[in-house]
Amino acid sequence: MISDAKESLPQTVAASGSTVSEAAAGAILTIDLGAIRENYRRLKARLAGVRCAGVLKADGYGLGAAQVASALIKEGCDIFFVALLGEGIALRRALGAGPDIFVLNGLPPGSESEAVAAGLHPVVNSAAQLKAWHESARAAGRKLPAAIQVDSGMSRLGMPPAEVEALTKDAFDGVDIRLVMSHLACADEPANPANEAQRLAFERLRGMLPKAPASLANSSGIFLGSSYHYDLARPGAALYGINPTPGETNPMLPVVRLQAKVAQTRSVEEGAGIGYGHTYRARGPLRLATISLGYADGWHRRAASAAWFEGVRLPFVGRVSMDSIILDISALPAGRLGEGNLVELIGPSQTVDDAAGHAGTIGYEILTSLGARFHRRYVGA
Ligand SMILES: *Cc1c(COP(=O)(O)O)cnc(C)c1O
Repeated sequence: MISDAKESLPQTVAASGSTVSEAAAGAILTIDLGAIRENYRRLKARLAGVRCAGVLKADGYGLGAAQVASALIKEGCDIFFVALLGEGIALRRALGAGPDIFVLNGLPPGSESEAVAAGLHPVVNSAAQLKAWHESARAAGRKLPAAIQVDSGMSRLGMPPAEVEALTKDAFDGVDIRLVMSHLACADEPANPANEAQRLAFERLRGMLPKAPASLANSSGIFLGSSYHYDLARPGAALYGINPTPGETNPMLPVVRLQAKVAQTRSVEEGAGIGYGHTYRARGPLRLATISLGYADGWHRRAASAAWFEGVRLPFVGRVSMDSIILDISALPAGRLGEGNLVELIGPSQTVDDAAGHAGTIGYEILTSLGARFHRRYVGA
């Protein structure tokens, strides 16, 4: 696959996204690009020769699309997926011409010329989008690349079967079909019969389209076996250390570490009301630490109920505030934890998936919620 991006686009990769110094920040997010590369290699090994893209939507699942892409490029990855056109334009600016960048959600009507100018490939999800891209190709006076997505049973994005069946041959005039793809709804449940039903529907639908490389598997789809691999896999979550095989040992390396700084410590007497609404009252004398991280940083009010320091669990007490959380540090020796020390929210003691479990959500939501106020440290580049 060769990109037709404009040669004039800058060749540089955006520098670290961090705008706040480590000393000034309330919390530090460490992203291990070496672990992302190792995770890519582990997925490649499973794919045995099948190509492997990188999914970078939502700014690389919150970790920095440009930085993640640069790391994956070093592993030979040259196909990326984003969700929105704006994400694609930003990524093209960061990476320059070269890698193929597909826009999963398709192009909003009227935005086609922006995609052409940035050398981005739409994932065409409807007959109307196909017609618009066909007309863009006529206006451009050349063939334009695209992926065609069919709905094999998730009912979210992609051409419904009836639309695929109704397509005429000339509908594809001017369109260089780089990929025929679909997406699995239940890939993280290997025993779910919906997986095989979707695979068979995908087989039938792609048989009605012009011959092109095929793609079905996301992270968990890679672990469903080689019949789901086709010509290209599209992992996101697994690259970022989220377990693609829930319920089994995580085959991926952890990528993210989140540490928050202690802003203040104090001792309180029995009966002290703690935090907004006094939802917690001290049942005896307590030592407390307030950390500089709160729901404005994406740590939801309902999210994980403890931080960790040197392997010791420090439970949250009272409500999560916008910019702070109060911890019960009575389990540590007095004076052990003080202003400026770091406690761990995500790391060896509490994985992304653990934090998600405590919050009643999935690791994807934890990562993509991580806020803009952290000092971001990229290691292992
Ligand atoms: C998000 C997404 C992926 C990646 O899924 P993961 O579960 O994160 O691996 C792949 N394909 C499509 C169409 C997606 O929307």
